[in-house]
Amino acid sequence: MKTQQTFLTRYSELEYSVSTLMSQLFSGICGSCTACCCRADICEEATESAFLSLLLEKQGLGREQMDDRYGWLDLHGCTLEYGRPPVCYAYYCDQLLARLPDEEAQFSAKVLGKLIQHIGENALGGWHLVEIMDRSDLAKLNYPELFQRLEEAQAAYSVIEHFMQAGRLTKADYNVLNVITDEEL
Ligand code: SF4
Ligand code: SF4
Repeated sequence: MKTQQTFLTRYSELEYSVSTLMSQLFSGICGSCTACCCRADICEEATESAFLSLLLEKQGLGREQMDDRYGWLDLHGCTLEYGRPPVCYAYYCDQLLARLPDEEAQFSAKVLGKLIQHIGENALGGWHLVEIMDRSDLAKLNYPELFQRLEEAQAAYSVIEHFMQAGRLTKADYNVLNVITDEEL
């Protein structure tokens, strides 16, 4: 139980960092978008998933707080600090990609968008962590492996955060990012 709580805390901290960095990268674009890609059925996945619903509870949220039409979206964007379905980070429309200056920046942003997905891959058999619906199944997870994936995502996040300031990736940086890309991009 303590291990699960520690994992929840570290996952939520990393997700919050990822979402903050993405907001900095694309500030204003999604907020003023008239073709918003958010959908209430995606929002609903956060209430149905055993793991994500625990993250919502951590914020004092549940199905009752979700708007039937707009889900977790308000005029300023997604109101969830963490506990969003991984797809919410992985999708980049052309408008977002066009804002980035070069291929290296686009590559880094794509990896950033895959970090949350990466953590939960194959958490129970072939199931992704967020696809598990029964809370009792969360006790059966291989937590050492989940922590390992969290570490990989954290390391990649640090590389991307540094890249946003330095503007270039070294060979060592690529090695860290390729742990994510080899599997998922
Ligand atoms: S990702 Fe693209 S389509 Fe989706 S809200 Fe942002 S700007 Fe709009
Ligand atoms: S980013 Fe937030 S509002 Fe948009 S689909 Fe995901 S959970 Fe819903």
